[in-house]
Amino acid sequence: GAPVPLLPRTMASAAIPTWEKVYINGQWSRPSSANLFDVIDSNTGKVCARVPAAGVADVDKAVAAAREAFVSWAEKSLDERKAVLQKVLETWQGKKAQAAEWLCKELGCTATFAKTVQVNMVDFHLGTSLKLVDMVKFEEKMAFGSLVVREPIGVVGCITPWNYPLNQIAAKVFPAMLVGCTIVLKPSEVTPVCAYLLAEAVHEAGVPPGVFNMLMGDGPNCGEAVAAHPGVDMVSFTGSTRAGRRISEVGAQTLKVVRTELGGKSAALLLEDADLPKLVPKFMQTLMNNSGQSCNALSRMLVPKTRYDEAVELAKKVAEKTVVSFAQDEKASIGPLSSQAQWEKVQGYIQTGIKEGARLVTGGSGKPDGLSDGFFVKPTVFADVDNKMTIAQEEIFGPVLSIIPYTTEEEAVRIANDTVYGLNNAVGSASPEKAVAVARKLRSGMVMINDTSVMPDAPFGGYKQSGNAREWGLMGLEEYLVTKTLAGKP
Ligand code: NAD
Repeated sequence: GAPVPLLPRTMASAAIPTWEKVYINGQWSRPSSANLFDVIDSNTGKVCARVPAAGVADVDKAVAAAREAFVSWAEKSLDERKAVLQKVLETWQGKKAQAAEWLCKELGCTATFAKTVQVNMVDFHLGTSLKLVDMVKFEEKMAFGSLVVREPIGVVGCITPWNYPLNQIAAKVFPAMLVGCTIVLKPSEVTPVCAYLLAEAVHEAGVPPGVFNMLMGDGPNCGEAVAAHPGVDMVSFTGSTRAGRRISEVGAQTLKVVRTELGGKSAALLLEDADLPKLVPKFMQTLMNNSGQSCNALSRMLVPKTRYDEAVELAKKVAEKTVVSFAQDEKASIGPLSSQAQWEKVQGYIQTGIKEGARLVTGGSGKPDGLSDGFFVKPTVFADVDNKMTIAQEEIFGPVLSIIPYTTEEEAVRIANDTVYGLNNAVGSASPEKAVAVARKLRSGMVMINDTSVMPDAPFGGYKQSGNAREWGLMGLEEYLVTKTLAGKP
Protein backbone atom coordinates (compact mmCIF):
# COMPACT_ATOMS: atom_id res chain seq x y z
CA GLY A 1 0.00 0.00 0.00
CA ALA A 2 0.90 3.65 0.09
CA PRO A 3 3.78 4.46 2.45
CA VAL A 4 2.67 5.94 5.75
CA PRO A 5 3.89 9.53 5.99
CA LEU A 6 6.59 9.36 8.61
CA LEU A 7 7.56 12.98 8.82
CA PRO A 8 6.25 14.98 11.74
CA ARG A 9 4.39 17.55 9.70
CA THR A 10 2.41 19.97 11.82
CA MET A 11 0.85 23.26 11.02
CA ALA A 12 2.42 25.51 13.62
CA SER A 13 0.91 28.59 12.06
CA ALA A 14 -1.91 28.74 9.52
CA ALA A 15 -0.48 27.41 6.28
CA ILE A 16 3.23 27.12 7.02
CA PRO A 17 4.40 23.49 7.02
CA THR A 18 6.69 22.84 9.95
CA TRP A 19 9.16 20.01 10.45
CA GLU A 20 9.70 20.03 14.19
CA LYS A 21 11.84 16.96 14.63
CA VAL A 22 15.28 15.59 13.98
CA TYR A 23 16.20 12.01 13.03
CA ILE A 24 18.23 10.17 15.66
CA ASN A 25 18.66 6.43 16.20
CA GLY A 26 15.96 5.49 13.72
CA GLN A 27 13.33 7.79 15.23
CA TRP A 28 11.93 11.24 14.69
CA SER A 29 12.34 13.13 17.95
CA ARG A 30 12.00 16.68 19.21
CA PRO A 31 15.31 18.50 19.59
CA SER A 32 16.35 20.03 22.91
CA SER A 33 15.30 23.53 21.89
CA ALA A 34 11.88 24.55 20.61
CA ASN A 35 13.43 27.25 18.39
CA LEU A 36 12.52 27.13 14.74
CA PHE A 37 14.14 28.54 11.60
CA ASP A 38 12.18 30.17 8.82
CA VAL A 39 12.72 28.71 5.37
CA ILE A 40 12.25 31.38 2.72
CA ASP A 41 10.70 30.94 -0.72
CA SER A 42 13.33 32.50 -3.01
CA ASN A 43 10.68 33.48 -5.57
CA THR A 44 8.62 35.58 -3.16
CA GLY A 45 10.82 36.34 -0.15
CA LYS A 46 8.08 34.88 2.07
CA VAL A 47 8.33 32.16 4.72
CA CYS A 48 7.40 28.79 3.19
CA ALA A 49 8.39 26.32 5.93
CA ARG A 50 9.87 26.08 9.38
CA VAL A 51 12.48 23.68 10.72
CA PRO A 52 14.11 23.17 14.12
CA ALA A 53 17.37 24.57 15.43
CA ALA A 54 19.12 21.61 17.04
CA GLY A 55 22.09 22.25 19.33
CA VAL A 56 24.91 20.64 21.28
CA ALA A 57 22.69 18.25 23.30
CA ASP A 58 21.15 16.88 20.10
CA VAL A 59 24.55 16.46 18.50
CA ASP A 60 25.61 14.43 21.56
CA LYS A 61 22.62 12.13 21.13
CA ALA A 62 23.13 11.68 17.40
CA VAL A 63 26.84 10.94 17.80
CA ALA A 64 26.11 8.42 20.59
CA ALA A 65 23.59 6.66 18.32
CA ALA A 66 26.05 6.62 15.41
CA ARG A 67 28.85 5.24 17.62
CA GLU A 68 26.58 2.54 18.98
CA ALA A 69 25.47 1.49 15.50
CA PHE A 70 28.96 1.56 14.00
CA VAL A 71 30.27 -1.81 15.16
CA SER A 72 27.41 -3.92 13.83
CA TRP A 73 27.03 -1.90 10.61
CA ALA A 74 30.75 -2.19 9.85
CA GLU A 75 30.63 -5.94 10.56
CA LYS A 76 27.80 -6.57 8.12
CA SER A 77 28.85 -8.04 4.81
CA LEU A 78 29.17 -5.69 1.89
CA ASP A 79 26.25 -7.46 0.21
CA GLU A 80 24.03 -6.78 3.22
CA ARG A 81 24.88 -3.09 3.20
CA LYS A 82 24.37 -2.95 -0.56
CA ALA A 83 20.91 -4.49 -0.18
CA VAL A 84 19.91 -1.84 2.38
CA LEU A 85 21.14 1.01 0.21
CA GLN A 86 19.54 -0.45 -2.89
CA LYS A 87 16.28 -0.13 -0.97
CA VAL A 88 17.03 3.56 -0.28
CA LEU A 89 17.40 4.11 -4.01
CA GLU A 90 13.93 2.63 -4.45
CA THR A 91 12.20 4.60 -1.68
CA TRP A 92 13.82 7.78 -2.99
CA GLN A 93 12.00 7.41 -6.30
CA GLY A 94 8.74 8.09 -4.48
CA LYS A 95 10.06 11.34 -2.97
CA LYS A 96 11.52 12.97 -6.05
CA ALA A 97 8.48 14.87 -7.29
CA GLN A 98 7.91 16.43 -3.88
CA ALA A 99 11.60 17.22 -3.43
CA ALA A 100 11.70 18.95 -6.83
CA GLU A 101 8.75 21.13 -5.84
CA TRP A 102 10.42 22.16 -2.60
CA LEU A 103 13.70 22.90 -4.37
CA CYS A 104 11.86 25.41 -6.56
CA LYS A 105 10.96 27.26 -3.38
CA GLU A 106 13.79 26.84 -0.89
CA LEU A 107 16.59 27.01 -3.47
CA GLY A 108 14.78 28.77 -6.31
CA CYS A 109 16.15 26.67 -9.18
CA THR A 110 13.82 26.14 -12.11
CA ALA A 111 11.37 23.23 -12.04
CA THR A 112 13.14 21.70 -15.03
CA PHE A 113 16.54 21.89 -13.36
CA ALA A 114 15.11 20.55 -10.09
CA LYS A 115 13.48 17.58 -11.85
CA THR A 116 16.17 16.71 -14.37
CA VAL A 117 19.32 17.51 -12.39
CA GLN A 118 18.94 18.18 -8.68
CA VAL A 119 16.78 15.26 -7.55
CA ASN A 120 18.58 12.82 -9.85
CA MET A 121 21.90 13.51 -8.15
CA VAL A 122 20.86 11.00 -5.49
CA ASP A 123 20.53 8.28 -8.14
CA PHE A 124 23.77 9.47 -9.74
CA HIS A 125 25.83 9.07 -6.55
CA LEU A 126 24.03 6.20 -4.86
CA GLY A 127 23.70 4.23 -8.10
CA THR A 128 27.36 4.74 -9.04
CA SER A 129 28.59 3.90 -5.54
CA LEU A 130 26.55 0.70 -5.52
CA LYS A 131 28.28 -0.31 -8.76
CA LEU A 132 31.81 0.78 -7.87
CA VAL A 133 32.00 -0.46 -4.30
CA ASP A 134 32.90 -3.95 -5.55
CA MET A 135 36.15 -2.46 -6.86
CA VAL A 136 37.27 -1.21 -3.43
CA LYS A 137 40.25 -3.22 -2.21
CA PHE A 138 39.29 -3.84 1.41
CA GLU A 139 42.39 -5.95 1.91
CA GLU A 140 45.61 -6.62 0.15
CA LYS A 141 48.37 -9.16 0.79
CA MET A 142 51.74 -7.47 0.46
CA ALA A 143 54.71 -9.07 -1.30
CA PHE A 144 56.66 -9.43 1.97
CA GLY A 145 53.73 -11.03 3.79
CA SER A 146 51.86 -8.33 5.73
CA LEU A 147 48.14 -8.02 5.28
CA VAL A 148 46.94 -4.47 4.67
CA VAL A 149 43.30 -4.04 5.67
CA ARG A 150 41.17 -1.02 4.87
CA GLU A 151 38.37 -0.40 7.33
CA PRO A 152 35.58 2.16 7.62
CA ILE A 153 36.85 5.19 9.52
CA GLY A 154 33.90 5.27 11.95
CA VAL A 155 31.38 8.02 12.60
CA VAL A 156 31.37 10.62 9.82
CA GLY A 157 29.97 14.10 10.43
CA CYS A 158 28.65 15.45 7.12
CA ILE A 159 28.02 19.18 6.81
CA THR A 160 26.53 20.29 3.51
CA PRO A 161 25.52 23.49 1.65
CA TRP A 162 22.38 24.63 -0.15
CA ASN A 163 23.36 25.03 -3.79
CA TYR A 164 23.07 21.38 -4.88
CA PRO A 165 21.78 20.17 -1.55
CA LEU A 166 20.87 16.61 -2.51
CA ASN A 167 23.98 16.16 -4.60
CA GLN A 168 26.26 17.07 -1.73
CA ILE A 169 24.43 14.95 0.82
CA ALA A 170 24.32 11.94 -1.51
CA ALA A 171 28.00 12.25 -2.49
CA LYS A 172 28.95 11.86 1.17
CA VAL A 173 26.47 9.78 3.12
CA PHE A 174 25.91 6.89 0.67
CA PRO A 175 29.56 6.07 -0.13
CA ALA A 176 30.37 6.38 3.59
CA MET A 177 27.47 4.11 4.60
CA LEU A 178 28.31 1.58 1.88
CA VAL A 179 31.86 1.07 3.13
CA GLY A 180 30.60 0.67 6.71
CA CYS A 181 30.62 4.13 8.32
CA THR A 182 27.75 5.64 10.28
CA ILE A 183 26.52 9.18 9.75
CA VAL A 184 25.60 12.38 11.54
CA LEU A 185 24.34 14.71 8.82
CA LYS A 186 23.90 18.46 9.29
CA PRO A 187 22.41 19.76 6.02
CA SER A 188 22.07 23.42 5.12
CA GLU A 189 19.39 25.29 7.02
CA VAL A 190 18.68 27.26 3.81
CA THR A 191 17.39 24.17 1.93
CA PRO A 192 16.27 21.79 4.68
CA VAL A 193 13.08 20.34 3.25
CA CYS A 194 14.69 18.30 0.48
CA ALA A 195 17.03 16.86 3.13
CA TYR A 196 14.02 15.86 5.24
CA LEU A 197 12.56 14.04 2.25
CA LEU A 198 15.81 12.17 1.71
CA ALA A 199 15.93 11.25 5.42
CA GLU A 200 12.37 10.00 5.09
CA ALA A 201 13.46 7.75 2.19
CA VAL A 202 16.32 6.41 4.32
CA HIS A 203 13.94 5.68 7.18
CA GLU A 204 11.36 3.97 4.97
CA ALA A 205 14.07 1.79 3.43
CA GLY A 206 14.72 0.25 6.84
CA VAL A 207 18.28 1.43 7.39
CA PRO A 208 19.15 0.11 10.89
CA PRO A 209 18.77 2.64 13.74
CA GLY A 210 21.79 4.87 14.33
CA VAL A 211 23.44 4.23 10.96
CA PHE A 212 22.07 7.49 9.55
CA ASN A 213 21.17 10.43 11.80
CA MET A 214 20.10 13.87 10.67
CA LEU A 215 20.06 17.09 12.65
CA MET A 216 18.79 20.43 11.48
CA GLY A 217 20.38 23.59 12.76
CA ASP A 218 22.70 26.45 11.92
CA GLY A 219 26.43 26.38 11.27
CA PRO A 220 27.98 28.11 14.29
CA ASN A 221 25.99 26.07 16.85
CA CYS A 222 24.94 22.77 15.38
CA GLY A 223 27.60 22.44 12.65
CA GLU A 224 30.49 23.37 14.91
CA ALA A 225 29.30 20.93 17.58
CA VAL A 226 29.50 18.15 14.98
CA ALA A 227 32.98 19.26 13.87
CA ALA A 228 34.22 19.52 17.47
CA HIS A 229 32.74 16.28 18.81
CA PRO A 230 35.34 13.78 20.05
CA GLY A 231 33.00 10.94 19.03
CA VAL A 232 33.13 11.99 15.38
CA ASP A 233 36.07 10.36 13.57
CA MET A 234 35.91 12.38 10.38
CA VAL A 235 34.17 15.48 9.08
CA SER A 236 33.25 15.71 5.44
CA PHE A 237 32.37 19.30 4.63
CA THR A 238 31.16 21.04 1.50
CA GLY A 239 30.58 24.78 1.58
CA SER A 240 32.38 28.09 1.70
CA THR A 241 36.12 28.41 2.17
CA ARG A 242 35.41 30.58 5.23
CA ALA A 243 33.38 27.86 7.00
CA GLY A 244 35.80 25.18 5.80
CA ARG A 245 38.65 27.02 7.52
CA ARG A 246 36.64 27.27 10.75
CA ILE A 247 35.61 23.59 10.66
CA SER A 248 39.23 22.57 10.04
CA GLU A 249 40.30 24.61 13.09
CA VAL A 250 37.58 23.14 15.28
CA GLY A 251 38.26 19.60 14.04
CA ALA A 252 41.98 20.01 14.67
CA GLN A 253 41.35 20.01 18.44
CA THR A 254 40.68 16.28 18.26
CA LEU A 255 42.94 15.75 15.22
CA LYS A 256 40.07 14.17 13.32
CA VAL A 257 40.25 13.85 9.55
CA VAL A 258 38.62 16.92 7.97
CA ARG A 259 37.85 16.70 4.27
CA THR A 260 36.72 19.82 2.48
CA GLU A 261 35.04 20.72 -0.82
CA LEU A 262 35.11 24.52 -0.96
CA GLY A 263 34.66 27.49 -3.25
CA GLY A 264 36.09 28.22 -6.67
CA LYS A 265 36.97 30.91 -9.19
CA SER A 266 37.32 28.76 -12.25
CA ALA A 267 38.48 29.96 -15.65
CA ALA A 268 37.41 28.96 -19.14
CA LEU A 269 40.61 29.33 -21.11
CA LEU A 270 39.84 29.72 -24.79
CA LEU A 271 42.83 29.18 -27.06
CA GLU A 272 43.40 31.01 -30.34
CA ASP A 273 41.93 28.16 -32.42
CA ALA A 274 38.86 27.49 -30.23
CA ASP A 275 35.39 27.15 -31.73
CA LEU A 276 33.97 30.22 -29.96
CA PRO A 277 30.36 30.04 -31.23
CA LYS A 278 30.16 26.55 -29.77
CA LEU A 279 32.29 26.93 -26.64
CA VAL A 280 31.31 30.36 -25.30
CA PRO A 281 27.66 29.25 -24.77
CA LYS A 282 28.73 25.84 -23.50
CA PHE A 283 31.20 27.16 -20.93
CA MET A 284 28.83 29.96 -19.91
CA GLN A 285 26.17 27.38 -19.22
CA THR A 286 28.10 26.15 -16.17
CA LEU A 287 27.85 29.71 -14.87
CA MET A 288 24.20 30.35 -15.73
CA ASN A 289 22.94 26.96 -14.48
CA ASN A 290 21.50 27.20 -10.98
CA SER A 291 21.72 31.03 -11.27
CA GLY A 292 25.49 31.00 -10.94
CA GLN A 293 25.43 29.11 -7.65
CA SER A 294 27.75 26.27 -8.64
CA CYS A 295 31.13 25.73 -7.01
CA ASN A 296 32.65 24.69 -10.35
CA ALA A 297 31.07 27.57 -12.36
CA LEU A 298 33.41 28.95 -15.03
CA SER A 299 33.12 32.53 -13.80
CA ARG A 300 36.20 33.87 -15.59
CA MET A 301 36.66 33.66 -19.34
CA LEU A 302 40.18 34.09 -20.73
CA VAL A 303 40.21 35.14 -24.37
CA PRO A 304 43.09 35.88 -26.78
CA LYS A 305 43.14 39.57 -27.80
CA THR A 306 42.89 38.50 -31.47
CA ARG A 307 39.41 37.07 -30.84
CA TYR A 308 38.31 39.29 -28.02
CA ASP A 309 35.44 41.25 -29.61
CA GLU A 310 33.92 38.08 -31.03
CA ALA A 311 33.95 36.39 -27.59
CA VAL A 312 32.48 39.42 -25.81
CA GLU A 313 29.68 39.64 -28.36
CA LEU A 314 28.88 35.91 -28.00
CA ALA A 315 28.88 36.13 -24.19
CA LYS A 316 26.57 39.14 -24.32
CA LYS A 317 24.14 37.18 -26.49
CA VAL A 318 24.13 34.19 -24.12
CA ALA A 319 23.45 36.41 -21.09
CA GLU A 320 20.69 38.28 -22.90
CA LYS A 321 19.05 35.06 -24.03
CA THR A 322 18.98 33.74 -20.46
CA VAL A 323 15.40 34.15 -19.27
CA VAL A 324 15.14 35.00 -15.58
CA SER A 325 11.77 34.12 -14.07
CA PHE A 326 9.94 32.26 -11.35
CA ALA A 327 11.15 28.72 -10.77
CA GLN A 328 7.82 27.28 -11.88
CA ASP A 329 7.68 29.35 -15.11
CA GLU A 330 8.34 26.98 -17.98
CA LYS A 331 10.02 29.78 -19.94
CA ALA A 332 12.61 30.39 -17.21
CA SER A 333 16.21 29.49 -17.97
CA ILE A 334 17.15 30.45 -14.42
CA GLY A 335 15.27 31.29 -11.24
CA PRO A 336 16.14 33.62 -8.37
CA LEU A 337 19.17 33.31 -6.09
CA SER A 338 18.66 31.27 -2.94
CA SER A 339 18.45 34.01 -0.32
CA GLN A 340 18.39 37.72 0.43
CA ALA A 341 21.96 37.46 1.77
CA GLN A 342 23.11 35.90 -1.50
CA TRP A 343 21.28 38.59 -3.49
CA GLU A 344 22.97 41.39 -1.55
CA LYS A 345 26.36 39.74 -1.96
CA VAL A 346 25.96 39.51 -5.75
CA GLN A 347 24.71 43.13 -6.00
CA GLY A 348 27.77 44.24 -4.03
CA TYR A 349 30.11 42.47 -6.46
CA ILE A 350 28.40 43.99 -9.52
CA GLN A 351 28.83 47.47 -8.04
CA THR A 352 32.45 46.74 -7.11
CA GLY A 353 33.13 45.55 -10.67
CA ILE A 354 31.92 48.88 -12.06
CA LYS A 355 33.82 50.89 -9.43
CA GLU A 356 37.07 49.06 -10.12
CA GLY A 357 36.79 49.86 -13.83
CA ALA A 358 35.50 46.73 -15.52
CA ARG A 359 33.27 47.37 -18.55
CA LEU A 360 29.65 46.36 -18.00
CA VAL A 361 28.57 44.67 -21.26
CA THR A 362 25.11 43.59 -20.18
CA GLY A 363 23.07 43.09 -17.01
CA GLY A 364 24.06 45.10 -13.95
CA SER A 365 22.67 45.67 -10.50
CA GLY A 366 19.00 45.67 -9.49
CA LYS A 367 16.21 43.22 -10.24
CA PRO A 368 14.90 42.39 -13.73
CA ASP A 369 11.59 44.08 -14.62
CA GLY A 370 8.52 42.56 -13.01
CA LEU A 371 10.51 40.45 -10.53
CA SER A 372 10.68 42.70 -7.52
CA ASP A 373 9.75 40.31 -4.70
CA GLY A 374 12.10 37.35 -4.98
CA PHE A 375 15.90 37.27 -5.07
CA PHE A 376 16.23 37.74 -8.83
CA VAL A 377 19.38 39.08 -10.51
CA LYS A 378 20.27 40.06 -14.05
CA PRO A 379 22.69 37.80 -15.94
CA THR A 380 25.73 40.05 -16.12
CA VAL A 381 28.84 40.17 -18.29
CA PHE A 382 31.90 42.27 -17.53
CA ALA A 383 34.64 42.75 -20.14
CA ASP A 384 38.10 44.36 -19.83
CA VAL A 385 38.51 42.70 -16.45
CA ASP A 386 41.95 42.69 -14.88
CA ASN A 387 42.57 39.50 -12.92
CA LYS A 388 43.55 41.58 -9.90
CA MET A 389 40.05 43.03 -9.63
CA THR A 390 37.78 41.81 -6.84
CA ILE A 391 35.28 40.31 -9.32
CA ALA A 392 38.07 38.16 -10.80
CA GLN A 393 39.45 37.05 -7.42
CA GLU A 394 36.42 36.38 -5.23
CA GLU A 395 33.69 33.81 -5.66
CA ILE A 396 30.53 35.76 -6.57
CA PHE A 397 28.12 32.80 -6.68
CA GLY A 398 25.79 34.51 -9.13
CA PRO A 399 25.42 34.69 -12.94
CA VAL A 400 28.24 37.21 -13.36
CA LEU A 401 30.98 36.59 -15.94
CA SER A 402 34.38 38.31 -16.03
CA ILE A 403 36.06 38.34 -19.44
CA ILE A 404 39.83 38.80 -19.31
CA PRO A 405 41.99 39.39 -22.41
CA TYR A 406 45.41 37.76 -22.84
CA THR A 407 48.24 37.87 -25.37
CA THR A 408 50.22 34.64 -25.01
CA GLU A 409 49.31 31.15 -23.87
CA GLU A 410 51.84 31.38 -21.01
CA GLU A 411 50.15 34.55 -19.83
CA ALA A 412 46.74 32.84 -20.00
CA VAL A 413 47.97 29.94 -17.87
CA ARG A 414 49.48 32.38 -15.36
CA ILE A 415 46.20 34.32 -15.10
CA ALA A 416 44.14 31.15 -14.72
CA ASN A 417 46.41 29.99 -11.88
CA ASP A 418 46.56 33.39 -10.20
CA THR A 419 43.83 32.68 -7.63
CA VAL A 420 43.67 31.17 -4.15
CA TYR A 421 41.16 28.68 -5.53
CA GLY A 422 41.77 25.56 -7.61
CA LEU A 423 38.54 23.66 -8.07
CA ASN A 424 37.92 23.66 -11.79
CA ASN A 425 38.99 25.17 -15.11
CA ALA A 426 38.23 24.55 -18.76
CA VAL A 427 40.26 24.65 -21.95
CA GLY A 428 38.85 25.17 -25.42
CA SER A 429 40.90 24.36 -28.52
CA ALA A 430 40.45 22.80 -31.95
CA SER A 431 43.30 20.50 -31.00
CA PRO A 432 42.45 18.17 -28.12
CA GLU A 433 46.18 17.40 -27.66
CA LYS A 434 46.97 21.06 -27.23
CA ALA A 435 44.05 21.49 -24.83
CA VAL A 436 45.27 18.61 -22.70
CA ALA A 437 48.82 20.03 -22.67
CA VAL A 438 47.47 23.35 -21.35
CA ALA A 439 45.16 21.53 -18.90
CA ARG A 440 48.17 19.85 -17.32
CA LYS A 441 49.60 23.26 -16.46
CA LEU A 442 46.48 24.38 -14.61
CA ARG A 443 46.50 24.09 -10.81
CA SER A 444 43.01 22.73 -10.25
CA GLY A 445 41.43 19.42 -9.32
CA MET A 446 39.40 19.34 -12.51
CA VAL A 447 39.77 20.70 -16.05
CA MET A 448 36.99 20.46 -18.59
CA ILE A 449 38.26 19.88 -22.15
CA ASN A 450 36.00 21.36 -24.88
CA ASP A 451 33.07 20.11 -22.84
CA THR A 452 31.40 20.59 -19.47
CA SER A 453 30.12 17.18 -18.52
CA VAL A 454 31.34 15.61 -15.29
CA MET A 455 31.25 11.85 -14.92
CA PRO A 456 30.13 10.07 -11.76
CA ASP A 457 33.06 7.64 -11.76
CA ALA A 458 35.81 10.30 -11.86
CA PRO A 459 36.99 12.19 -8.77
CA PHE A 460 35.57 15.64 -7.96
CA GLY A 461 37.62 17.97 -5.78
CA GLY A 462 39.98 20.89 -5.59
CA TYR A 463 43.55 22.12 -5.21
CA LYS A 464 44.64 24.97 -2.93
CA GLN A 465 41.87 26.74 -0.99
CA SER A 466 39.18 24.83 -2.88
CA GLY A 467 39.69 22.02 -0.39
CA ASN A 468 41.34 18.62 0.02
CA ALA A 469 38.53 16.10 -0.54
CA ARG A 470 38.04 13.81 -3.52
CA GLU A 471 34.42 12.79 -3.84
CA TRP A 472 32.60 10.72 -6.48
CA GLY A 473 33.72 7.44 -8.02
CA LEU A 474 36.08 4.97 -6.43
CA MET A 475 38.07 7.68 -4.62
CA GLY A 476 34.82 8.96 -3.17
CA LEU A 477 34.32 5.57 -1.48
CA GLU A 478 37.95 5.26 -0.39
CA GLU A 479 37.73 8.66 1.38
CA TYR A 480 35.91 6.91 4.21
CA LEU A 481 38.46 4.16 4.80
CA VAL A 482 41.39 3.99 7.16
CA THR A 483 44.31 1.62 6.70
CA LYS A 484 45.45 -1.04 9.16
CA THR A 485 48.54 -3.18 8.72
CA LEU A 486 48.56 -6.68 10.13
CA ALA A 487 52.31 -6.98 10.26
CA GLY A 488 54.42 -10.09 10.11
CA LYS A 489 53.03 -12.93 8.03
CA PRO A 490 49.36 -13.26 9.03
P1 NAD B 1 28.44 27.77 4.05
O1 NAD B 1 29.86 27.51 4.28
O2 NAD B 1 27.87 29.02 4.55
O3 NAD B 1 27.54 26.62 4.69
C1 NAD B 1 27.72 25.25 4.39
C2 NAD B 1 27.30 24.42 5.55
O4 NAD B 1 28.19 24.67 6.63
C3 NAD B 1 25.91 24.71 6.09
O5 NAD B 1 25.32 23.51 6.51
C4 NAD B 1 26.18 25.62 7.27
O6 NAD B 1 25.19 25.58 8.25
C5 NAD B 1 27.48 25.04 7.79
N1 NAD B 1 28.33 25.98 8.53
C6 NAD B 1 28.49 27.30 8.33
N2 NAD B 1 29.35 27.80 9.23
C7 NAD B 1 29.76 26.77 10.00
C8 NAD B 1 30.64 26.65 11.11
N3 NAD B 1 31.28 27.69 11.62
N4 NAD B 1 30.82 25.43 11.66
C9 NAD B 1 30.17 24.35 11.16
N5 NAD B 1 29.32 24.40 10.14
C10 NAD B 1 29.11 25.60 9.56
O7 NAD B 1 28.27 27.58 2.49
P2 NAD B 1 26.95 27.77 1.64
O8 NAD B 1 26.72 29.23 1.50
O9 NAD B 1 25.88 26.89 2.16
O10 NAD B 1 27.40 27.14 0.24
C11 NAD B 1 28.03 27.85 -0.75
C12 NAD B 1 29.51 27.56 -0.78
O11 NAD B 1 29.74 26.17 -0.95
C13 NAD B 1 30.21 28.21 -1.93
O12 NAD B 1 31.40 28.80 -1.51
C14 NAD B 1 30.51 27.06 -2.88
O13 NAD B 1 31.58 27.27 -3.74
C15 NAD B 1 30.75 25.96 -1.95
N6 NAD B 1 30.55 24.67 -2.62
C16 NAD B 1 31.63 23.86 -2.88
C17 NAD B 1 31.46 22.67 -3.55
C18 NAD B 1 32.60 21.76 -3.86
O14 NAD B 1 32.36 20.60 -4.16
N7 NAD B 1 33.85 22.20 -3.83
C19 NAD B 1 30.19 22.29 -3.95
C20 NAD B 1 29.14 23.15 -3.69
C21 NAD B 1 29.33 24.32 -3.00
